Amino acid sequence: MHNEQSPSLGHDTAPASSDDIPPLRSFPGDSQVALLESPPTSPRPANTRASFTVIGEQTRQFKLAHFPGVSDEQWSDWHWQIKNRIQSAEQFQRHFPLSEDELSALNRGRRSLPFAITPYYLSLISPDDPIDPIRQAVVPSCQEFDIAADEQEDPLNEEGCSPVPGLVHRYPNRVLFLVTDFCSVCCRYCTRSRLIGKVHRENCRNNWVAAIEYIERHPEVEDVLISGGDPLTLPLAPLEGILNRLRAIKHVKFIRIGSKVPAVLPQRVTPTLVNMLRKYHPLYLSLHFTHPRELTPETAEACRLLANAGIPLGSQTVLLKGINDNVQTMRDLLMGLLAIRVKPYYLFQCDPIHGSKHFRTPVQTGLDLILGLRGYISGYAIPHYVIDAPGGGGKVPLLPNYVQGRDQDNLILKNYAGDLYRYPDKGPSEC
Ligand code: SF4
Repeated sequence: MHNEQSPSLGHDTAPASSDDIPPLRSFPGDSQVALLESPPTSPRPANTRASFTVIGEQTRQFKLAHFPGVSDEQWSDWHWQIKNRIQSAEQFQRHFPLSEDELSALNRGRRSLPFAITPYYLSLISPDDPIDPIRQAVVPSCQEFDIAADEQEDPLNEEGCSPVPGLVHRYPNRVLFLVTDFCSVCCRYCTRSRLIGKVHRENCRNNWVAAIEYIERHPEVEDVLISGGDPLTLPLAPLEGILNRLRAIKHVKFIRIGSKVPAVLPQRVTPTLVNMLRKYHPLYLSLHFTHPRELTPETAEACRLLANAGIPLGSQTVLLKGINDNVQTMRDLLMGLLAIRVKPYYLFQCDPIHGSKHFRTPVQTGLDLILGLRGYISGYAIPHYVIDAPGGGGKVPLLPNYVQGRDQDNLILKNYAGDLYRYPDKGPSEC
């Protein structure tokens, strides 16, 4: 069972040859965004590998069984991974059987939701487990078509907080810059599923100039989060063009890139990419991880390359029913992330997007998870548990009740083991 077919590229995928990407002006009609081309893509330094070379044992076995004619070099080429994404029921079934429910969800014609899995990420699925967590995160089920009354297409009201297309300005000093609608893998619970694969490439790119000009005009914007879609799926030259323009804005102190690439397409983290990114410090990466099974040798290598380039790595995880909503799984994920130099940053309550009921846990589940983790694992591994307030209220942190009340001049505190302690605290007037 091997996949010799090369499905056509999505409308915002990278060219299929190498990391040395042609400049933007080679795309007809892109003259406006040619402004973003400078500087030219960094030349590849001598003695650095152009490509990614790690293949973990589980993935190697999968590759041998399912892609026997594909060389290690092809497999490790991120363009090959994108070209050979699994995007239909028929393609998936060349590798693993689909359940009736999955088949029905994938065959709803134009009502089907976007579906894509890189061959690499497919290799992480256990075919014998119908509730495999990786599978649940990326293979559609008919439950997605059940839209509850409290669900919305854009629950965070990003459109309402968007002063120019492709830019969300919700908090005083920071903006979210949506540079692409393309992701190499489509997560079933994606907050931005209304956009993924649905905005034409030209439209995304034509938004870049207006978004950057907006940031230039707003000196209060100190922090720019580049997101999408997945910005690290952009070709090197336009990505560098965006970083270069942002870095030139004096009031922008801090640039972040949000990406799931190290988990689903680690081959994209080539030395060439890393050598480009390291020129734009201070640059942080907010990485998206779902389950400890994503922490493969490939992902560890991608994070090693990024961390060695001085790029601080943080992780964001969405709390998902049946996928990562128990203490052991979350513990393995969080400690595993620390081991590959990624600091767990946020644990998100799943947003109420259309068709997400089967993924959403009660908030108490998240609070219980934090209770089951804090004190038992390194404090460095504990993320902030937050709800992104529906309607655009921003992130609201949630904590279990560690403060139990007051006893005259003492605060009564409950520690991780449930024991009570008194801390002398006379209140502000006595300080
Ligand atoms: S990687 Fe992020 S943006 Fe892309 S589909 Fe998954 S959750 Fe959505």
